[in-house]
Amino acid sequence: ETVLTQESASEDPKRDAALRPKHLREVIGQQAAVQRLSIAVNASKKLREPLAHILFDGPPGLGKTTFATVLPTELGVSIQMTSGPALSKPADLLPFLTNLEEGSILFIDEIHRMPRVVEEFIYPAMEDFRIDIVLGDGMNARTISMNLKRFTLIGATTRSGMLSSPMRDRFRIHEHLDFYTVPELATIVRVNAQKLGTQISDEAALELAQRSRGTPRIANNRLYWVRHFAASESDGIITLPIARAALEMAEVDRDGLDKQDRRYLETLLGVFGGGPAGVEAIAATMNLPADTLSDEIEPYLLREQFIVRSPRGRIATPRGFTAMGHTPRDLSSP
Ligand code: ATP
Repeated sequence: ETVLTQESASEDPKRDAALRPKHLREVIGQQAAVQRLSIAVNASKKLREPLAHILFDGPPGLGKTTFATVLPTELGVSIQMTSGPALSKPADLLPFLTNLEEGSILFIDEIHRMPRVVEEFIYPAMEDFRIDIVLGDGMNARTISMNLKRFTLIGATTRSGMLSSPMRDRFRIHEHLDFYTVPELATIVRVNAQKLGTQISDEAALELAQRSRGTPRIANNRLYWVRHFAASESDGIITLPIARAALEMAEVDRDGLDKQDRRYLETLLGVFGGGPAGVEAIAATMNLPADTLSDEIEPYLLREQFIVRSPRGRIATPRGFTAMGHTPRDLSSP
């Protein structure tokens, strides 16, 4: 089972780009965010001011990068993209800052992974479009100030909680992206099938949507797989039986849970009797960082109520038991 994991999606940026909305009006779902961002874009154009700095947060694959790439198109400006882990020292930011054009966008993905020194270096850039560069060291050190073009910083993070509060406060717009509804995902599947020149029935689109973990990136992965399956095993048209057969073959379960979700539930049920179990304990047993659990795995399981949080740790719900083929037990009452 390699085709359908979330990770494999981002390995092919060209493929992602082909299906990415180009304009805000093409963005499906997230309508409150779309409306607020449209207003910010209009205001920026009318007032001839750069767009306010924006922070997107939410679990992976929900469209943070999509939003970040749509905005420069709307504004008619350029965008440069980098990520927190690539910026290990202030000097790593210099090429980006000196390449800025008036009103252009600098996108920093995984901004919570930027070291503190880089964060501090970026504050005056965000506030006053200026950077302070220290030349030499010790007794001979002196600081020179350099003015920058007025620009917009867009940050994306899976955990805004890990961002320092001075950093967070410097973003004037915060948008939290949440999981998509099944009808929204079905629309995304239909629109993207059309972009790929593939016919898909409404029932098949719905089936894919239901089994995509509330996440457009996963829905796209399912679509690519099912499309190949239909081409190889049939006449290329994605019907409901074709979609089902393809998803069965890829071992996508009914609830759309992926391998990690199932491992998580299996651990919680098998090792901890359904809980309560602390996230650290579950993470240690699964041999994964606790962050991965709380940022990538748990948000969906919590939203769909496969698990609940309690003061003593995570607890599997009856739905969680059933999903794993266990007899449901109600652990939520003491
Ligand atoms: P992350 O939030 O981790 O940055 P991402 O932004 O990389 O995730 P995207 O790459 O933006 O996720 O989205 C993956 C694909 O999902 C896009 O190429 C696009 O086809 C589709 N997609 C995401 N969000 C939307 C949306 N709101 N409307 C339509 N399509 C979307």
